[in-house]
Amino acid sequence: MAKKSSGHTCSFCGGPMSADAVVVPSPLEPGVLICSDCVAGISDLLKEVANDKRQKAANDVKSMDQVPTPREINDYLNQYVIGQDSAKRYLSVAVYNHYKRLAQKLDDDDVDIEKSNIIIVGPTGTGKTLLAKTIARLLDVPFTIVDATVLTEAGYVGEDIESLLTRLLQAADYDVAKAERGIVFIDEIDKIARKSDNPSITRDVSGEGVQQGLLKLLEGSIVNVPPQGGRKHPEAKMIPVDTKNILFICGGAFDGIERKIANRLNTHVVGYATDSNKQKIKRDNYLRYVAPQDLKSFGLIPEIIGRLPILTHLDPLDRDALLRVLTEPKNAIIKQYQKMFKMDGVELTFDQSALELIVDKAIEYKLGARGLRSIVESIMVDSMYDIPGSDIKSLNITRDYALEQIQKAHFETDIVQ
Ligand code: ADP
Repeated sequence: MAKKSSGHTCSFCGGPMSADAVVVPSPLEPGVLICSDCVAGISDLLKEVANDKRQKAANDVKSMDQVPTPREINDYLNQYVIGQDSAKRYLSVAVYNHYKRLAQKLDDDDVDIEKSNIIIVGPTGTGKTLLAKTIARLLDVPFTIVDATVLTEAGYVGEDIESLLTRLLQAADYDVAKAERGIVFIDEIDKIARKSDNPSITRDVSGEGVQQGLLKLLEGSIVNVPPQGGRKHPEAKMIPVDTKNILFICGGAFDGIERKIANRLNTHVVGYATDSNKQKIKRDNYLRYVAPQDLKSFGLIPEIIGRLPILTHLDPLDRDALLRVLTEPKNAIIKQYQKMFKMDGVELTFDQSALELIVDKAIEYKLGARGLRSIVESIMVDSMYDIPGSDIKSLNITRDYALEQIQKAHFETDIVQ
């Protein structure tokens, strides 16, 4: 029996519409209609195109024998990052497994290797960002570093959570399929911890709300991403991005977490009001024991913690480590200055005692690894000014000269305050 006609004709296929068909009118042109059969057909076509793209992306994935092994990744990290063996190990394995997940064929069996996002807890200036950047250099997947402090709940001043993925899209040249297998490093994740144990007292727009938003990204869902990074371009069309295969690495200093760890271990941080060296050692010891429940006491919601199953820590850098940071990595600060001087035909050397002075000053000013460069700069600035154009062919920095230059730079007054 023929279907009863509605009297309408589809403007797309030209066919008559049955009385029970869903008619979609054009929002712009009165009388322009499209029938549900055509809508369904177009929808199938779009899905097919999207699947083709994903298949193409899957075919682009390296076979496992082209991927560096965890040991090779670790060796590479060793060239640039001093110490931090535990974090290096966890990161190497996680990145290797990320490639495995990308290479897996889902038709073989029903086992789906799920991603394991990572969280790194460590004092500031000990190499979290350096580790992330170094890994990025080794990999051929899109990678971006974003700062959690700029994030707020949608509707408040700051960036929407989805803007994290804008940067990844940019790193992938807006190739969505490529971005969907990338890695995002979220720095300062501790800054979005819940401020109080009772979230209902005040609105916590940059705390728990952001964590809830982030959860959506971490667990894997289709997220609409603003192509230009947010509210400045509200007219821009959103790009849907599937976060299922995006690996998230989170980092944070979690200042004060050692006390929570100590509480859990049923002891107290000894001597934190007295001897600062003692405190360092204690902090170092406690961070080694960091566990998911400490992140919870710090103010991360359990759902977020559950989505960051790999938890590792960074050690504070002691005097020996700082000395190594100064001279050993492939692009160590001292090597950089030597290269600069070499370009002027000058051989630059440092007495060991001068290097030790630089490290001691960095410790004294509580600047850690971050302070090394500015101290070296203050020592070298006069020579870098005077030597080009002169006939000096070599320069050795002694401890006395270094000390004089540091004092001349008013480092004590400029930096300590
Ligand atoms: P954060 O842990 O706060 O992210 P960064 O990775 O930004 O610290 O470190 C700041 C700088 O200190 C780096 O650019 C690097 O020069 C130096 N640095 C810190 N830790 C290390 C390390 N473990 N090995 C080598 N250099 C380091």
